[in-house]
Amino acid sequence: MNETLPPCPECSSAYTYEMGALLVCPECGHEWAATGSAENTADTASDGAIRDSVGNVLADGDDVTVVKALKVKGHPTGIKAGTKVRNIRLVAGVDGHDIDCKIDGLGAMHSSPAWSAKPDLG
Ligand SMILES: [Zn+2]
Repeated sequence: MNETLPPCPECSSAYTYEMGALLVCPECGHEWAATGSAENTADTASDGAIRDSVGNVLADGDDVTVVKALKVKGHPTGIKAGTKVRNIRLVAGVDGHDIDCKIDGLGAMHSSPAWSAKPDLG
């Protein structure tokens, strides 16, 4: 009878059900469009892609380079422009998108993609 519905993207619950054009998760209350592809939305400004300072789309695990000097609280020198940041992780921040990363000698950082640039690959 029912076709298999995708699990909840928020909590991975398998007990999702359809409500009109939406899918609903009974466990966390999340609702999302059943038609799936975000390509249908006209809102190109929020296509979900996180871009660096020059417009390259960033992805989890990317290596980026810091493009401007950054002050770091409690650190005497901060981050210099040109510092390589490996294996970034993209997170949804309060004011948009952010990057979680680790920088050698500085430890875990949480900052904006606006200061990063993806090096040319190959
Ligand atoms: Zn859920």
